[in-house]
Amino acid sequence: MTISVRPDVIDRLKTLAGPTGWSADPERLAPKLVEWRERWSGSTPILMLPKSTAEVAAIVSLCAETGTPVTVQGGNTGLVGGQIPQGEVLISLERMHKVLEIDTFDEALTVQAGVTLAAAHEAALSARRRFPLGLASEGSCTIGGNVSTNAGGTAVLRFGNMRDLVLGLEAVMPDGRVWDGLVRPRKDNTGYDLKQLLCGAEGTLGIVTAARLKLFPLPASRAVAFVGASNPRATLDLLARARSDAGGSLEAFELMSDLGVDLVLRHAPNSRLPLEGRHPWYVLIEVTDAEPGGAERALERILAAALEDGLADDAAIAQSDGQAAAFWALRENQSAAQKSEGQAWKNDISVPVSAIPEFLELAGKAVSAFSPGVRFPTFGHVGDGNLHYDVLAPAGGDVAAHMAQRSEATGIINAVVVAMGGSISAEHGIGVMKVDDALRYKDPVEIAAYRAIRASLDPKRIMNPRVLF
Ligand SMILES: Cc1cc2nc3c(=O)[nH]c(=O)nc-3n(C[C@H](O)[C@H](O)[C@H](O)COP(=O)(O)OP(=O)(O)OC[C@H]3O[C@@H](n4cnc5c(N)ncnc54)[C@H](O)[C@@H]3O)c2cc1C
Repeated sequence: MTISVRPDVIDRLKTLAGPTGWSADPERLAPKLVEWRERWSGSTPILMLPKSTAEVAAIVSLCAETGTPVTVQGGNTGLVGGQIPQGEVLISLERMHKVLEIDTFDEALTVQAGVTLAAAHEAALSARRRFPLGLASEGSCTIGGNVSTNAGGTAVLRFGNMRDLVLGLEAVMPDGRVWDGLVRPRKDNTGYDLKQLLCGAEGTLGIVTAARLKLFPLPASRAVAFVGASNPRATLDLLARARSDAGGSLEAFELMSDLGVDLVLRHAPNSRLPLEGRHPWYVLIEVTDAEPGGAERALERILAAALEDGLADDAAIAQSDGQAAAFWALRENQSAAQKSEGQAWKNDISVPVSAIPEFLELAGKAVSAFSPGVRFPTFGHVGDGNLHYDVLAPAGGDVAAHMAQRSEATGIINAVVVAMGGSISAEHGIGVMKVDDALRYKDPVEIAAYRAIRASLDPKRIMNPRVLF
């Protein structure tokens, strides 16, 4: 359903923003109206381009007064469709891209919400610190989007999700008032934690305008390995070994299927397998350490034992930063390479880590029985039990016919996930894509609580009205 906005409200928004604070130019709007995977496209009568929190507040106040729905957009890399408007006013934070403060005493980085994740990394690095959230979309996704989707990524194993990395937030609430929760002591036990409510709220409870983020020391050493393995059980045993040996120094443990790697080798220029031959599964392991050489020594120890015990069939340790980046590219390019092969059934699921082999077996059987010949370019953050359980059409098959079966296939996969105590959305959120599935599987008491919170903060339901519950 397309929402319409009253012409008089559009006129008032234009006046409020001034000539450079909005656009209705179709060329300017076009990239913001289609999602990365081209699954959702949308429309808007006006794109608002605020430069400050006060400007965001003025826009939202007017929308609240007139009951005008808005959609908020950061870098437009979200994968569940929540940032694509269907006729609402579109508010982009692309002009709010200032680094506000780097505080090395409090180990905190404060940025406007439109700062990209890559720019936040650079800002941290300029103070010889690191901000550890790691996503393949880092060049485009924004801190506001990362907070609002509670983004995960490759370093969750050690540092947690975005909600674990946020010290404070500033946000424009659905009535247009500004909540200044940016600078808070690290210990602040004074009631509900509003910032945590906004983390993962997908723009339904307010617009995040700035964030204060946790910084960490730069490691003195870092080692990255690419490992070939024969089956998922062996990779889990390797994970357990790496955890007990490297402890808190284990930063990433990423699983890739041979098909997923094969697609990268075929579609991503300059990619090369760092092992002698092919293996059914691969793992990328990253270890860091506070001691120079410590990470290399830990990884060598882990891999020597794993090769001896048959948990790994082959392994290569990167000998330079360039080689480490090349190893990571084999992981980071999984989504993009898959895209070159045509649309897939996308499933961002999680199960208890120990249940991964059983999940792969049961879901694989159920899906193949439903649609014989489909292909599984599975990859994911296996250390967190999170798999991108994507399913491609049979080689040379009809992609449109495959996609027509998506919803039924998702039901089959979700049934296996839920039976194992997993989640149907591990890190991408609900957006508009998973609303029905979430309503089916989430506890009704929890859904009722969400709805009560949303209705009390946004009684006219103007904020991202089609997103969540
Ligand atoms: C190649 C690729 C790899 C990815 N890898 C990962 C991964 O490993 N882990 C992971 O978790 N995600 C991943 N993603 C998904 C995506 O990058 C994240 O969800 C990211 O956090 C979205 O940020 P964004 O700025 O692009 O938000 P958008 O896509 O613009 O918006 C996402 C949602 O947040 C809301 N929103 C955006 N900004 C604000 C704001 N300032 N205030 C309130 N609401 C806001 C939007 O309305 C929408 O509902 C990947 C995406 C791609 C394309």
